[in-house]
Amino acid sequence: MTHVLDGNAVGDRIRGELADCIDELAAEGVTPGLATVLMSDDPASETYVSMKARACEEVGIEGIHHEVDPDAPAEELFETVDRLNDDPAVHGILVQMPVPDHVDKRRVLRSIDPGKDVDGFHPENVGRLVAGHPRFKPCTPHGVQLLLEAADVDTEGKDAVVVGRSDIVGKPMANLLIQKGPGGNATTTICHSRTDDLGAKTREADVVIAAAGYPELIDGSMIGEGAVVIDVGVNRVEADTEKGYELVGDVEFESAKEKASVITPVPGGVGPMTITMLLYNTVKAAALREGVAVSLPGEGRPVEP
Ligand code: NAD
Repeated sequence: MTHVLDGNAVGDRIRGELADCIDELAAEGVTPGLATVLMSDDPASETYVSMKARACEEVGIEGIHHEVDPDAPAEELFETVDRLNDDPAVHGILVQMPVPDHVDKRRVLRSIDPGKDVDGFHPENVGRLVAGHPRFKPCTPHGVQLLLEAADVDTEGKDAVVVGRSDIVGKPMANLLIQKGPGGNATTTICHSRTDDLGAKTREADVVIAAAGYPELIDGSMIGEGAVVIDVGVNRVEADTEKGYELVGDVEFESAKEKASVITPVPGGVGPMTITMLLYNTVKAAALREGVAVSLPGEGRPVEP
C-alpha cells in the first residue's frame, strides 16, 4: 500500500503546535509580527500574499501588509524595507517575489535584516544553512523535511535525488539532506536541466524530491520500487475545467504511485507546508529577538534566546 502523504493534515498539526508557541510568547507580552511587501500587480503574487496574511491571522501572528507601486523607483521598496527593519513590532519581513525588472533582486535579499529574514534567502542565512547551523531554513525545503519526518521516513544513509537546483528549493533542499542530524545524513545528488539521463539517476534513489517546474516530468518508469517521492512542482496545464486549467506536479502521480511507498499529491502535499513553515520562521524570529524560549515543532530542542 502506498502512503499518500496529506500535507494539509501535517500542516494543520504543525500550525496547532505553533499556536501553542504563540501563547507562550503572548504570556511574555510578545505578539509575533510578519510584514509582507508587495511590489507587483500580478494576480498570482497578490493571491500568495493574501494567503500568507490569512494564515498569520489564523494562528495569532500580526500581519502587516505594505504595497509599493510596481512603477515606483526601486528606492521606495528599499526605504520600506529599512523602516520595517527598524520597526520593533515586525519580527519577520517577506518581500514577495518576483519584483519588477528595475529592482535589483539580490539587493532586496541583502537589504532585509538577517534576523527578520523569514524566507531564509539573505546571504548570511544561506551561509549559515550551508555551514550546518541554520537560523531560518527556507520554507519549502523545511516543509519537505517535516513531511518526511511525519511519514517516519529516515533519510540517514539513504540515496536522495533532488531534481532542480534553484536557490529557493533545489539547493537548500539538498543542503538540508546532507546536514548531520535528523532529517539529514542522506547521500544526495542534485539533478538539473543539463543532467544526462535523469531517469537513470532517479530510478536508483530511495528518496526523490522533484522541484523542476516541468509538468509530470517524472513518471513511474523513473521511480524505483518502494521509493519515497516528494513532488514540489506546481504547474498549470490547460484542462477542461471551469478555470480552463488544472494544477499538476512534476511527477506523474498515478504511474509513480504504483512504484512508490510514500508519495505526495499536488495539490495538497508540499504546498500547505510552505506557508506553515513561514509561520514557523516568524514565530522563531520573534522568540529569538525577544529572548523567549519556545519549543518549536520538529526542532528537537527549544529555541535558546
Ligand atoms: P526554478 O524554475 O527556479 O528551478 C527549476 C529547476 O529545475 C532548475 O534548477 C532547472 O535546472 C531544473 N530543471 C528544469 N527542467 C529540468 C529537467 N527537464 N530535468 C532536470 N531538471 C530540470 O523553479 P523553483 O522555484 O525551484 O520551483 C520548482 C517548482 O516547484 C515549480 O513548479 C514551482 O511552482 C514549485 N514550487 C512549489 C512550492 C510549493 O510550496 N509547493 C514552492 C516553491 C516552488
